[in-house]
Amino acid sequence: MAFVDETYKRAESERIINHHFDLAAKKINLDHEMWELLKVPFREIKVQIPLRMDDGRLEIFVGYRIQHSQARGPMKGGMRYHPEVNLGEIRALAAVMTWKTAIAGIPFGGAKGGVSCNPKELSPAELERLTRAFMSRIGDNLGPNQDIPAPDVNTNPQVMAWMMDEYSRRHGYTPAIVTGKPVELGGSLGRVEATGRGVMFVTREALKDKGVPMDGATVVIQGMGNVGGNAASFLHDAGCKVAGISDSKGGLHNPKGLNPRKVEVYKEENGTLEGFPEADYISNKELLELPCDILIPAALEGVITGGNAAGVKAKFLIEAANIPTSPEADEVLLDKGVYIVPDILANAGGVIVSYFEWTQNLQASYWEEDAVNRKLEKTMLDAYGHLKAVAQTNSVPLRTAAYAIAIEKVARAIRLRGFLHA
Ligand code: NAD
Repeated sequence: MAFVDETYKRAESERIINHHFDLAAKKINLDHEMWELLKVPFREIKVQIPLRMDDGRLEIFVGYRIQHSQARGPMKGGMRYHPEVNLGEIRALAAVMTWKTAIAGIPFGGAKGGVSCNPKELSPAELERLTRAFMSRIGDNLGPNQDIPAPDVNTNPQVMAWMMDEYSRRHGYTPAIVTGKPVELGGSLGRVEATGRGVMFVTREALKDKGVPMDGATVVIQGMGNVGGNAASFLHDAGCKVAGISDSKGGLHNPKGLNPRKVEVYKEENGTLEGFPEADYISNKELLELPCDILIPAALEGVITGGNAAGVKAKFLIEAANIPTSPEADEVLLDKGVYIVPDILANAGGVIVSYFEWTQNLQASYWEEDAVNRKLEKTMLDAYGHLKAVAQTNSVPLRTAAYAIAIEKVARAIRLRGFLHA
């Protein structure tokens, strides 16, 4: 294990995913060599990014790309711009991508990247220069058959367009280098909404399994960005009552239900949720403890902990965010009988449609949106059905079953290819 630099502050996210990995690896009697191999990322890249600010100052940012595994295909994962981005967090998120692509049954490995910065304080021109400088430093280790970035927290189709353009300057026009691009540049129809749509599909299946009607079920969602906002709209359209929703500063509560599209328009016009009519303005802490049927964290990691899990009143926890729940919280929630659909399945819709986007780019042939959505639904439902069966047969929670299935798939690919290609 000498390869791993232990001097960085160990992220809570890393502790959480190591716990899940160890639990599942033990269940499947994973051999020691494979155990060690799968815990160490394939490659870790850390770069300095000098940025000339609009006012003439030079600021130095730090960017990361962690490539966890390429055993099952090119590495795949989002790019996050956030002040709290650090090596441990990105390392954990990269491993999550390896397990997610495996459980979804798509031919990719896992990676994640990001820049430690506050994009809300950067002008559009600064954001573009930062993105291009970042891409120019990591691009040699990316490629349509190597590692393919996508959007994550605080990045979007425009950021992907700059990344693609910067890469294409050196390598020729290469739309397959990133997914989540604007449709005009080879993006897939349905990609922007895919993660939220997938969250709706698994929520619907989970409710069906437990005999809870979708119509009138109350849902509370933390975060209203790409994932939370789209999930809220799809669930609202499917008959659920969105009783609570939040952004980073606070949330809204109305037990009779909110119209998520109206909330989004209000936020766009006012820059805050505070003051939205017909709802109480509450804290994110209060939001997680609201009475509801379904709780959907859709913001950042580690928000449901041993400290607040006892206050969660939901019967279903659908993990739209990555790594939102600590192992201590898991235990409390499972004891209370909460049905938890783990992140590596619940939010896989985004990477599934990213796979469709990549295949469309490679073939230079584009699909209609209906076809994208139908294939997304089938892929998610197949993965969920298999996961449920494995969990039932082995009497383990869905999360442990999900990690076990994923680890076995990746380990098998490594044994077939040889250990140099992990
Ligand atoms: P986003 O930047 O579009 O939105 C993030 C949302 O979280 C915003 O509404 C923001 O206000 C809110 N937020 C930030 N900090 C918060 C805090 N401390 N408390 C409450 N809310 C807070 O990001 P996104 O793409 O929607 O990603 C959200 C989560 O979903 C992340 O965990 C991400 O890794 C995961 N995810 C995203 C995708 C995708 O396709 N974008 C796919 C799979 C998983």
